[in-house]
Amino acid sequence: MTILFISDLHLCKDRPEISKLFLEFLQYPAKQADALYILGDLFEVWIGDDAIGPEEQRIITAIRAVANHGTRVSFMHGNRDFLIGDGFADMSGSTLLFDPTVIELNGEVTLLMHGDTLCTDDIEYQQFRTQVRDPDFQAQFLSLPITKRLETADHYRSESRKRSKLKPVEIMDVNQDAVINTMKHYHVNRLIHGHTHRPAIHDIKIDGQEAQRIVLGDWYHQGSVLTVDARGYHLESFNKTNIRSIITG
Ligand code: MN
Repeated sequence: MTILFISDLHLCKDRPEISKLFLEFLQYPAKQADALYILGDLFEVWIGDDAIGPEEQRIITAIRAVANHGTRVSFMHGNRDFLIGDGFADMSGSTLLFDPTVIELNGEVTLLMHGDTLCTDDIEYQQFRTQVRDPDFQAQFLSLPITKRLETADHYRSESRKRSKLKPVEIMDVNQDAVINTMKHYHVNRLIHGHTHRPAIHDIKIDGQEAQRIVLGDWYHQGSVLTVDARGYHLESFNKTNIRSIITG
């Protein structure tokens, strides 16, 4: 059994080499794996399932091929592509997951999240999140013409970039209490999330018990994948020259 986890690819026109790397990743190792979990921010921006361009279509078709080949593909929203809907899921052959979701992994209950909800120190972001995750807000946004939606999304992105520059880096990481409380709430000793772009396997203690928080890496300059199989948990970065060395059992 080989399960792959990725997140934060931020696919967009500005980084065609990363889209290419992802297409290669789907061919190998994703096609050979039993399951692929995409834990958010697959796309840099998503303005609705009715506004899919040729770039996005190419990605969707490639994911579909992997799903048709027998890999179970699951997708969880990130803070960039939270407007991905059932249309995307149908076209790509993937299942949409709630954030958070508990799964059984190697016989252990494991919590999956995108990770942005754990960044509770960033109060301004959490307020913004509450606003844009409101169903009425989303319905209103999706009713706008595509050009208007693109404009609005661009505006949000540049505002977010400006604000991020002004924030101390600690604020944009997860809050340790939020991590512990969330893991306790879901009765798990393992959490896998992305979002912070700080790939690492953190050994932590929860009420004296060994626990682990695994943070997936972003794909800005290379690929990043967590491979889970009978041997354990393996987090690695890769590029087009060593992509074949990712082991899938
Ligand atoms: Mn994110």
